[in-house]
Amino acid sequence: MLTAEGAGVQAHRIGVVGAGVMGSEIAQVASAAGLAVTLRDVDAAAVERGLAHVRDIGARRVERGRLTPAEAEAILARITPAADDADLGDCDVIIEATTEVMEVKREVFARLDAVARADAVLASNTSGLSITQMGRATARPERVLGLHFFNPASVMRLVEVIAGEDTSPEAVRTAMDLVTRVGKTPVRVAECPGFLVNRVVIRALAEAYRRTAEIGADRAAVDAAVVEEGPAPMGPFALGDLIGLDTLLHVQRDLEEAYGDRFAAGDELAALVAQGRLGAKTGAGFLEGGPAAASADAAGRDVAERYYRGAVDEATRCVAEGVAAPDDTDLAVTLGGGWEQGPLAWGQGRAR
Ligand code: NAD
Repeated sequence: MLTAEGAGVQAHRIGVVGAGVMGSEIAQVASAAGLAVTLRDVDAAAVERGLAHVRDIGARRVERGRLTPAEAEAILARITPAADDADLGDCDVIIEATTEVMEVKREVFARLDAVARADAVLASNTSGLSITQMGRATARPERVLGLHFFNPASVMRLVEVIAGEDTSPEAVRTAMDLVTRVGKTPVRVAECPGFLVNRVVIRALAEAYRRTAEIGADRAAVDAAVVEEGPAPMGPFALGDLIGLDTLLHVQRDLEEAYGDRFAAGDELAALVAQGRLGAKTGAGFLEGGPAAASADAAGRDVAERYYRGAVDEATRCVAEGVAAPDDTDLAVTLGGGWEQGPLAWGQGRAR
């Protein structure tokens, strides 16, 4: 099914493996775009929950007048639950969204390699694990890549398309085409720890957490200053609480290990996680009971300066390392981080 020479394969049936938070949303996105979807999980109850989630999204959209009941029903009907890996054998692209553990991923990729069509592309929705290592668990590493959807995938427009060391340009084109056809915006990213958006945003968060502790700034005043002084839609403490401090700590530690001290976050984040204060999901995190109304003050603006300087520096490094093109970097942070303007364009505007 080559569309044109070297243009990659146009996908018609998508497999989704792992029917949890992300897998069920990705299945919804692909089906809503008219593609046939096969949904597979080791846990049959997870597939049922995934389908129920797709039904809920449909019901909400019908209520808001964005879908007719028949369209919502058709979206659900295009998703076929799979009891066996062999059911994925007719998929053009299979997207893996299982647990974020390399050993699990490698095992899943080896199994998918055994059942998938020889020309099928295998993608991982990993937030940060090595695509190259997953690819090398298969006999087709040139057809393995990252498709990093953002949460919630049914709403967020950005998808990072991550090429590993062995990924072929054709596989990247197939993936870019698929992402566009499901109504999302693909951004090409070369493999590196954290990929692009998480790397830039978590660098900014780490800078802000360190500086706040250093000068004893008020967290709510920092959040207010960050929103006032630049293009981010919310402050670093409100965002940390929203992400979940346990998840954030996990990713921050990986990035600190990969890139060193500029990703160090100070002691507060780990201390809060140890106390079980994980953010919105436990009712309190950095902030007591959710985002607080506060005014920016001088200390808050000092921290905001560090926050944005960190984001601009990390974005600049990504471009210099060839992780992404400058325009793509700005586009990705705008769509994935909700910034009004990308960090590079914003930094240049300020320098003028
Ligand atoms: P989740 O725990 O909600 O779902 C994972 C699912 O995978 C579970 O239903 C589990 O039963 C299934 N599973 C585990 N091992 C399996 C196997 N061997 N074969 C088939 N199914 C298996 O996790 P999630 O939050 O949806 O995350 C999935 C992936 O998406 C991870 O790689 C994560 O890093 C990434 N991701 C998550 C988010 C997020 O905000 N949650 C955002 C972007 C990317």
